[in-house]
Amino acid sequence: MIVDAGIQPWLFEVEPYEGESLSHYLGRFKRRNHLTPGGLGNMAGIGAVIARWEKFHLTPYPTKTQFEALGRVLGIFPERLWGMLPPHGEGMQCEPIRLCGACYGENPCHRIEWQYKSVWKCDRHKLKLLAKCPHCEAKFKVPALWEDGCCHRCRLPLNGMMR
Ligand SMILES: [Zn+2]
Ligand SMILES: [Zn+2]
Repeated sequence: MIVDAGIQPWLFEVEPYEGESLSHYLGRFKRRNHLTPGGLGNMAGIGAVIARWEKFHLTPYPTKTQFEALGRVLGIFPERLWGMLPPHGEGMQCEPIRLCGACYGENPCHRIEWQYKSVWKCDRHKLKLLAKCPHCEAKFKVPALWEDGCCHRCRLPLNGMMR
């Protein structure tokens, strides 16, 4: 059987959500496969970059070669990885991490568009993006760590967060 174009047979595939950010997707893939950031980077042969990408620290920016190698491990096309980052020319900010709770209720993921510099509200729900928990005011963790779907301090569910 030819497997060179697909995922390694011992890994579980994780389907990306529409609009999902790179950080959130990498976190889900790692947890599903019990991988550390370093372990995933080693499997892809791209070294210690995963932990930085999970924080949206993108200088130096990921290269075509790196995303091709990572895509082979993840079992997805590199184009999908590029889609998890802002399109060329769109500025992004890595903090604060932002959220539309109504979007999260529909698709439980952090959306990359929430980190665009030009975006401060959700166009679909007409809600201002949250930059912290409206109940306890804790800042959101990096999306790679959004395992429980709730505020890490007060446990308020992300999908109910509104102001
Ligand atoms: Zn929304
Ligand atoms: Zn909270």
